[in-house]
Formats: sequence, structure tokens, C-alpha cells
Amino acid sequence: MRVINSITERVTHFVDWLITSGCKQVYDEDTNRKIIVINLFAMVGMSITFVLGLRAMLNNNDVLGIVLLSSAALFGLCKALLLHSRFLYNHILAPFILVVSLTGLMLYLVISGGVANTGPLWIYVLPPVAMFFAGVVYGVITVIVFIALCSFILFAADGMFVVAEYSTEFKLRLLYSFATVTFLSAFYEHSRQTSFNIVKELSDKFERQAQQDTLTQLPNRRGIQQFIEFESARSRRQKKPLTLVLCDIDRFKRVNDTYGHDGGDIILKHASALFKGSVRQQDGVSRWGGEEFLFVLPDTNEANGVILAEKIRETLASTPIEIQQKNVTVTASFGVAQIDFEQGLDKALTLADKALYKAKENGRNKVLSASSLARL
Ligand code: GH3
Ligand code: MG
Ligand code: MG
Repeated sequence: MRVINSITERVTHFVDWLITSGCKQVYDEDTNRKIIVINLFAMVGMSITFVLGLRAMLNNNDVLGIVLLSSAALFGLCKALLLHSRFLYNHILAPFILVVSLTGLMLYLVISGGVANTGPLWIYVLPPVAMFFAGVVYGVITVIVFIALCSFILFAADGMFVVAEYSTEFKLRLLYSFATVTFLSAFYEHSRQTSFNIVKELSDKFERQAQQDTLTQLPNRRGIQQFIEFESARSRRQKKPLTLVLCDIDRFKRVNDTYGHDGGDIILKHASALFKGSVRQQDGVSRWGGEEFLFVLPDTNEANGVILAEKIRETLASTPIEIQQKNVTVTASFGVAQIDFEQGLDKALTLADKALYKAKENGRNKVLSASSLARL
């Protein structure tokens, strides 16, 4: 039983590896889906053309055999490009080769007639494949070029190098039905792309909203988390300091009690705008919760973090805001801690919180650093 399970697991793993080779996290969902289809198409195309090619060779139809086997080799090349997708552009090169070789193969089938003049039956594969891989615009261009070449082959080059013999009715209906399939494929691909874009825009919008606080327009706790992780990894790599500043508005309950919840909200918006305007472009400011804010300061050590927090504290304490025809001034307390990468992020947050608590204890409207706590 265990042997069967292990075999099933390996087979699943292998199939997964075959189908998803070339997919990358940096690509969007649509590109990765296309890469999966290219993988499937290249493998199925390679198998079919290889078998048909061998059959043609065995039946002494050498030219058809060589064309089909060459197509199998080109499909195989697409698959190989995806398997060795260290280069970023292989996912563009592979479908390009695929569409060009498919177009060439289809033209050959029209010229030669394939087996017993059934070659043209395969050309309907081209429109959906070209639209899907190259997009509506390039797909339509590819198919128009193909139709032009086909018309030339069927009507103008008859007797020059065209081997197959088709009736005029067959030729006309072949082109009409092909044009219909092309139109439907273009329409379908356009609708698919439009729906995908709408869904993508909506999902991006929801993602942005989920990371942003609606009252202050600052990133919320979830939003700043990504920034901290990114900056933390960067600072660690570049051996640069990274400092956190936790800030809490003083006696905020009193503001709410005096001016109501709406008055409290005005103060929160006022403080947020002031905080955002007081830091550098590369710094992060977020609403950590309630009336608490977290500043993330790249390339800044604790001493410089204290200087910046002092500047912000002073600005807030000296900038009143009008609520119900009264000038109201609020203050805030700050706890500053530089991240020690050996101890981790949570440790720095705990230290900043402790320093903030001490600043409240020492009378509020103050900045305290984590290292000053150790000295106390
Ligand atoms: P301290 O100086 O010790 O920080 O005192 P405080 O009153 O600021 O502290 P406390 O944490 O006891 O009170 C915070 C208050 O903030 C309580 C809560 O109702 C209020 N608050 C939290 N979120 C919001 C909000 O979005 N809008 C408003 N208006 N008030 C909020
Ligand atoms: Mg609080
Ligand atoms: Mg408070």
C-alpha cells in the first residue's frame, strides 16, 4: 500500500513539474496560466506531430514526414525553453516559436493536402491558439497573414507548387469557415481578457483597501507588515540600521469625551497628515491601531530615530486644529527601538512598546528610547 502511495505521489509530482515548468511567482496569474497551456500544447503538439510524422515516413511520404518531425522538434524546443526558464523571456519566446511553427505547418498542410487531402482540416487550430498566446491584436495579425497566404496558395499559386487539388467550392468554404472561427476566437479572447482585467482591478482594489485605514488613508497594521518585512530583509542584507517608533496620542479618551467621536476622528486625521508630512519619502508611517501609530525608519539608528521622533512630537504639540470653533492641541508619547536582527522584529516592537509605556509614566508628551530604559 505504501509503495502504491509513494508511486502515486511521484507520478503526481512529475506531472505537476511537466505542466507547470516555467511558471514563476513574479509573473501574474494570467501569464502563469498561459505558460501551463503552452506546456500542454507543446507536449500534445509534439506527441501528435511525432506519431503522424513517423507514420508518414513509414508510408514513404518523406516530405510530409520531415515537415511533421521538424514541427515535433520545434514543439519540443518550446517545452525545453520552459523547462530551462532561467531566462525571463523564455515565456515569450516559447509561444512565439509555437505560433510561427504552427502557422508554417498549417500552410504546408494546405499546400500538400496532407493525407488524402485532409490537411486543411487542421487549420482551425490556429485562430484560438494564436489569439490565446499572442493576444487579440497580434493573434488577428497572424491569422490575417495566414488567410492572405492561404488565399494566394489556393487561388493564385495553383499549379505552381501546390500539390493538393481542391474544388473551388471547397476552397471558398474553407476560407469562409476559417474566417468565422477567427472572428469567434477573437471575440472570445477579447471577452476573456476584458473579464480578467475587471476581476484583476477589483481584486487589486480590495487588496489595497484591506491594507489601508479608511479614516486616515495610512497603511494599517497589515499594510505596514509587508513594508517592515521587506525593509528588514534589505537592511539586514546591506548591514544598515532599521528603527521602529511607536507613538500613542495622549489622553485621547478625553478628546473623545469632550468633542465626541467625530472630534476624535478629526484629531486622528490631523495627526496622520502631520506625521506623513514629517518623515522622509523612504520612511513608513502606519495606523497601528486605535490612536497608536508605527513609524518604520530605514537607514536610521536609534539615536537618529529619537531626533526624528522629537521633531514630530514638537510639531504635533505646537500645531492646533480647529474643532467646534475651538483650537485644540494634542500631544503624543513615543517609544523608539532599533531592530536587532539577531533578536528579531517582535523583540524590537516589545522594546518600543516598553519605552512608550515609560514615556507615558514619565508624564506623557515625551520620547524615550529602548536603550535609555536599560540605563534607567
Ligand atoms: P493615554 O495617554 O494613556 O494613551 O490615554 P488615552 O486616553 O489616549 O488611552 P486609552 O488607550 O485609554 O484610550 C484610547 C481611546 O481611543 C479609546 C478609544 O475609544 C479611542 N479610539 C480608538 N480608535 C478610535 C477611532 O477610530 N476614533 C475615535 N474617535 N476614537 C478612537
Ligand atoms: Mg492607546
Ligand atoms: Mg493614548
